[in-house]
Amino acid sequence: MIPCSRREFLRAGTLLAAGLGLSQGVASVFAQGLQRLFERQKRVLWLQGLSCSGCSVSFLNCNEPGPLDILTRMISLVFHPNISATQGAQAIETIQKLVSEGGYYLVFEGAVAPGMPEACLLGGRPLNDLLVDVLQRADAVVAAGSCAAFGGIPAGEGNATGAVGLAEFMRSKNIPTEKRLLNCPGCPVHPDSLVGTLAYVAGKGYPSVNPELLTPDMMYKHSVHDDCPRFHYWQKNAFAEQFGDEGCLFKLGCLGPLSHTNCPQRQWNGGVNWCIRAGAPCIACTSPDFVKRRAFPFYRKGEAYHAVAYQEKDRKGDKS
Ligand code: SF4
Ligand code: SF4
Repeated sequence: MIPCSRREFLRAGTLLAAGLGLSQGVASVFAQGLQRLFERQKRVLWLQGLSCSGCSVSFLNCNEPGPLDILTRMISLVFHPNISATQGAQAIETIQKLVSEGGYYLVFEGAVAPGMPEACLLGGRPLNDLLVDVLQRADAVVAAGSCAAFGGIPAGEGNATGAVGLAEFMRSKNIPTEKRLLNCPGCPVHPDSLVGTLAYVAGKGYPSVNPELLTPDMMYKHSVHDDCPRFHYWQKNAFAEQFGDEGCLFKLGCLGPLSHTNCPQRQWNGGVNWCIRAGAPCIACTSPDFVKRRAFPFYRKGEAYHAVAYQEKDRKGDKS
């Protein structure tokens, strides 16, 4: 690893917190956590289940700190299926050595396939066999993206693999989730939410979470709808009828009321843009229901479809 000064950790923590719209107090925790990760007090193992690797691509699009700094100067990433040169039997050996030594966090991307273990292999072996040991020994587990958190696209109605999210898999194997598992949903996960979660856990321990969804409050407390720049249109019942119109996008299929995350604050690609600012409805990519049911509205127009998925009581964002 290339040396990194205390000043650089403070700068990285501050930029990370600022990007997420969090306080200076959280920035100090991030800085502390990044330093501990750099000092290899905790190493990071990344595994993939049923996934498109989109969350890995998103991770590599992190902005402040950037991917080169993260990978070569801050996080000690022991193995990543796409980035590491190590593969096959050698990868299994590396992972087993890490598990026997302990002192690591697991980042898991994609869903688990208990109904078809051979759908996901590592070194010719079903990943699920290895995963149980890895999950049991990890000091913290971060489910990166909606597939890992809730099953996501692989768990869509009619799938043949029995795909589930990590929480369900861990509970089925009697592996404790309390104060260990953190869900960072999103399709894909936002890189700042993922890096921020890892840095926070390393810096201060398990953060405050939604008790049902296990999503960190600092990134997932409010709905997109709560903080949407078009919310004033919603309040006035001023709805866009066509793409490109002024107005709230609800009648064009927006599911912002169902998606709890901080897109309006941090946006994407280093704050360049995000779905609603680009005029596209939110498809609720952080929702536990995201694309699971055939009836889940996905760019479908009209309030009739929304009634299937959304009721005012579903708004969990507590502005108090
Ligand atoms: S429905 Fe969508 S566009 Fe309208 S205010 Fe809510 S999040 Fe914004
Ligand atoms: S605006 Fe909605 S669909 Fe777009 S990234 Fe955010 S939560 Fe996902």
